[in-house]
Amino acid sequence: MPAHQVDDPELLLALLAQHSLACPVCGYDVRSLKRPVCPECGSRLHLSLGSPDLRIHHLIAGLVGLALGLGFTANVGLMLVVQIIRGVGSGSGMTGAAIYAAATSAILLTLLIATARARHRFLSWRGNRQRLASLGLILLSIACAFGMIMFLVISVF
Ligand SMILES: [Zn+2]
Repeated sequence: MPAHQVDDPELLLALLAQHSLACPVCGYDVRSLKRPVCPECGSRLHLSLGSPDLRIHHLIAGLVGLALGLGFTANVGLMLVVQIIRGVGSGSGMTGAAIYAAATSAILLTLLIATARARHRFLSWRGNRQRLASLGLILLSIACAFGMIMFLVISVF
């Protein structure tokens, strides 16, 4: 895959000789630099390609939603396994809930990894499609967490 940045200090310095641009780290105006380092904060600078059409908030919302659901089901699953090992809780309800937690955690982890890997395809979609996909991931995550709670209420407590 091609890079998003160009490691060419001369090209960068030529651009900065003609344009006022802000350091991406501290915001200092780095026009007319003599070397590709911000004089204010010392950050190294390079050229990179950007797009005003890049919108990452739907992708982040979907990933955070999946991560929260995964965190919940995985933690509940671990607590159930510890309880079963310690002999505090037993019975098919406890084991079933632990299996449900493991299965939903595996599904959410797989979706999290698949979505992160397919991020370029996700980002190339139009806004409405991104919004729908993100909403779908969040709702699936909420459904898994809600199912976990219902499983605990019905079969364990
Ligand atoms: Zn700076």
